[in-house]
Amino acid sequence: MKWTWKIIRVAGIDVKIHLTFFFILIWFGLSAYLNGGSITAALTNVLLILTLFLCVVAHEFGHALTARLFGITTKDITLLPIGGVARLERIPEDPKEEFLVAAAGPAVNVAIAAGLFGGLLLSGFFNQPLNMAVLLNNFWLQLLVANITLVLFNLIPAFPMDGGRLLRSFLALVMDHLKATRIAAAVGRALAVLMGIAGLFVNPWLILTAIFVWFGAGSEAQAVEMKVGLKGLVVRDAMVSQFYQVEANQPLSEVFQLALATGQSNIPVVSNAIYLGIIRRSDLMKAMERVGSRAPAYAAIGLEPEGLDPEMTLSDVFTKFASNRVLPVIENRQLIGLVTPESVQQRMWLNQRRAGTKPRATGEKTDVA
Ligand SMILES: [Zn+2]
Repeated sequence: MKWTWKIIRVAGIDVKIHLTFFFILIWFGLSAYLNGGSITAALTNVLLILTLFLCVVAHEFGHALTARLFGITTKDITLLPIGGVARLERIPEDPKEEFLVAAAGPAVNVAIAAGLFGGLLLSGFFNQPLNMAVLLNNFWLQLLVANITLVLFNLIPAFPMDGGRLLRSFLALVMDHLKATRIAAAVGRALAVLMGIAGLFVNPWLILTAIFVWFGAGSEAQAVEMKVGLKGLVVRDAMVSQFYQVEANQPLSEVFQLALATGQSNIPVVSNAIYLGIIRRSDLMKAMERVGSRAPAYAAIGLEPEGLDPEMTLSDVFTKFASNRVLPVIENRQLIGLVTPESVQQRMWLNQRRAGTKPRATGEKTDVA
């Protein structure tokens, strides 16, 4: 994520902080000061937020360290104004594991709240005459209330928040993972709309959370659809195997004519059947301006993505599209096909349609058991 800095590394996990997090500190400090408070009040407020975010970090470590028990590593933990995000390398598909990983976060805050309550009880805080002023000015009591709020908020079943994950893990006990994800994502999106509307009247942070939930639910559901849709497929299954290509020494003008006549925007270049690279439409225009239309085709080859093995698992390919929309499939140094997001998607639809007409495979059931 952009605008984040690593502040510390604990138990092998980087803890990062997002720039916007500082805004929330300034905002809380300023609002305390402007509401007639002193500098001390402002600083206490800032300290309270910092301590609360320590509790959020502890919450995220609850997720991360529980995930580690199931062999899942965590890339990093990032603090955002709306809370923390632990980037787990993957989400456990086993409902029991997902339940434990999701529940571990809020459980940490329950433990912190219990500790604070015990501390206040032992210190005799509750024995004094309690009025609003006493309650609102106690640092530890505020932290206690904040932790309880954190638990309740996280338990809202808005996937991909913790409550939503718990919901999916319950659903996945009685249905397959994909269906459970679809339902949890739909519930999450409905709650995101409600949260967004509530945010307009109550607290603008709710709107941010609603946006996070809306897009998070969508992208996670999509990832699961993709994983299921691509199950058992390899690169060879999704590649385009009929395409035009040019020889390395053909002039760029001919490449241009070919692109125009065929509508193929990416033209592979070969030399004696050995694959050299791909000329992308934008590179072709630039090269013709730079070196002229009589220059050889190989002059227009741009930065080359690494070639894919035809037997590579298709679900591993998707992340590679971030930097390149067309990927060459290479076998024995020869180009045998091209893979694009569209060709993968088409193959996925075909796979899903086939899966839909067949009775559910026994292999999928074992995921749920
Ligand atoms: Zn959490």
